[in-house]
Amino acid sequence: MRMKAAVMHTPRQPLVIEDVELDAPHAGEVLVKMVASGVCHSDVHNYTGDLPVPPPPIVLGHEGGGIVQEVGPGVTRLKPGDKVVMTFLPSCGRCRWCHTGQPNLCDLGAGISTGKMLDGTNRMRRADGTPLNSWSFISTYAEYSVAPEASLVKVPEWTPLEKACLFGCGFTTGYGAVTNAIRMKPGETITIVGCGGLGLAAIQGAAASDAGKIIAVDVHEEKLEMAKKMGATHAVRNRHKVDEAVKEIMDITWGLGTDYSGDFVGFDQCNETIDLAFKAVRKGGTMLLVGVAPLMQQTMPVNPALMTLFQKTIKGLLFGSAQFQVDIPRYIDLMHAGKIDMDSMVTHEYKLTDINTCFANLLAGNKVARQVIRFP
Ligand SMILES: [Zn+2]
Ligand SMILES: [Zn+2]
Repeated sequence: MRMKAAVMHTPRQPLVIEDVELDAPHAGEVLVKMVASGVCHSDVHNYTGDLPVPPPPIVLGHEGGGIVQEVGPGVTRLKPGDKVVMTFLPSCGRCRWCHTGQPNLCDLGAGISTGKMLDGTNRMRRADGTPLNSWSFISTYAEYSVAPEASLVKVPEWTPLEKACLFGCGFTTGYGAVTNAIRMKPGETITIVGCGGLGLAAIQGAAASDAGKIIAVDVHEEKLEMAKKMGATHAVRNRHKVDEAVKEIMDITWGLGTDYSGDFVGFDQCNETIDLAFKAVRKGGTMLLVGVAPLMQQTMPVNPALMTLFQKTIKGLLFGSAQFQVDIPRYIDLMHAGKIDMDSMVTHEYKLTDINTCFANLLAGNKVARQVIRFP
């Protein structure tokens, strides 16, 4: 079939909305008509070339929601008409990791860097026949997506996908980091470094865990305002002077530091944000690495002696340690009950033709929590 998709041909050049040929679903795959797609910062890292895999030409977009149109051979869990949330990592349900409650570590996930589908082939082509790479097997910046059944979570038909699409990556990564991976006790404290889509979701997770102090840190005043709205009890402006920000955190916590901290930024700023998060966590505390550092970076600014002497733990986390088939329906119930605030998370809605504006807003850093593309 033919559809419109946003194609990235060259890093840092505007994405082009063009006609793309989409093959029918292969075995284990599903054709989804897109309803909404979140615009996650990881796409911008691919766009800028900081995340060089998969290579262009590619259709980006890796958190979405839509309606099943057609299922390929062997698909048993879904049927046409089902509403689904599309996740950036698939889970096969059969591997060691899936069997031990860690579908976020499923062996299938490694394939996302190839740009191919799980069987090693492409589903999308340009009008001239050039194959187009997919992103996270789901490529949501298009009118339709052929996606693995393993990447889809069936949700109730009343689910507002223009909000729930964020459960496919960003929200779950942040909220899950706090509620799945560390399970804060009431009254415990946390420093959240970075108040974008991940950090704001983590703040909601900390608030839901009855955290005593939730200290939000960001370079932008606008983001700190959003953080307070999500439940942050304190806001610390990072003026690119780590020690000043850490001193403020120490003043707030009677000189202890917080029980937990997390870097929710990653990438080019990670040396500063990791340094800050490591210094902010108390003796015996746990620091979370949630934002992804550049793939080729081999070191981080952590003093190993202090890590030993202060007995600090650093914990890497992928996709909020979520069990998506269970957690995403749970988040939908929490959203429905008003206990997760997705209205404030989605600050802007756009059309697919506005995708370059969305990227420019993310690069500006201060303008948005999460942007969502809605399809007619
Ligand atoms: Zn993402
Ligand atoms: Zn698996």
